[in-house]
Amino acid sequence: MLSSNLASWLRPFGVQVLDMLLPPNCLACDAPVDADGQFCLPCFRKANFISAPLCPPCGVPLPFSPGAGRLCEVCAVEPPAFTQARAALRYDDLSRRLILPFKYADRTDAALGLAVLMARAGAGLLAKAEILVPVPLHKTRLRQRRYNQAALLAAALGRLAKRPAKLDALIRSRATVPLGPLSRVQRRAELEGAVAVRAGRAAGLVAKRILLIDDVMTSGSTANACALALLAAGAAQVNVLTAARVPDPRLE
Ligand SMILES: [Zn+2]
Ligand SMILES: [Zn+2]
Repeated sequence: MLSSNLASWLRPFGVQVLDMLLPPNCLACDAPVDADGQFCLPCFRKANFISAPLCPPCGVPLPFSPGAGRLCEVCAVEPPAFTQARAALRYDDLSRRLILPFKYADRTDAALGLAVLMARAGAGLLAKAEILVPVPLHKTRLRQRRYNQAALLAAALGRLAKRPAKLDALIRSRATVPLGPLSRVQRRAELEGAVAVRAGRAAGLVAKRILLIDDVMTSGSTANACALALLAAGAAQVNVLTAARVPDPRLE
């Protein structure tokens, strides 16, 4: 363990103590790379960065250019409460290798690397964001995992983009079942009233442009529930930035 005395002794020499002790590794394997948030060349070739064409509000990759006013099938039926969602990577084998250990296996050191990728994909959203807010975890799950991976990403992005992160602005007021197997209508019912603005935090959100942060966006239902709670508290606009996005299997 590095003593804080050594760290403070080295600081005047411009030595990045942590970099010196933990040379950056590829986000997806153990190969050394130049800086955090990079892939080694073989992993970079496999990485599926999300790029246009996208559905304008939900950011799902589309096989065609949507054209003015055209939306994906989901948004066309029911536009989301958030204005725009963007993500760095498609959720596939490679991004799962980054995100699952980060989420479930204490690999909290991946937060900075993922945040670097997210800052690139969400540069436009970060530029207009006034406050970053993570998607909350229910306290039972927080106790099991000991950290909220979305809050780690929001804190890292806040530091990178010099934006304030309000890590406890939202709460999960009750636990929900896994949303994966549910239909859109069932998901909405399951999330009804499950996310709320924490008592005493609403005043800081009024008239602000909020950027909601999460690790993975699947159907967008959770992000939508968070956006509804933030807008009901008086937020001016809610956008969403995630590390990865599950593509729509019908469009692949
Ligand atoms: Zn690699
Ligand atoms: Zn859409």
